[in-house]
Amino acid sequence: MAVPFRRTSKTKKRMRRTHLKKTVGAITKCPKCGEALRPHRACTKCGYYKGKEVINQQEETKEEN
Ligand SMILES: [Zn+2]
Repeated sequence: MAVPFRRTSKTKKRMRRTHLKKTVGAITKCPKCGEALRPHRACTKCGYYKGKEVINQQEETKEEN
């Protein structure tokens, strides 16, 4: 197996990695409250998905109290 002739310098390594970055991914807005959301997920703020309430926020807060 071929072996690197020289150790890769910090600069060379960092130059190569300038192209490696994390992507934010797809983000949509909740049509009800405007909260930033991932697509095909219920809203974490108001609990709505496709115009229906799928997570009851009031019941959850009652359980916490
Ligand atoms: Zn919402």
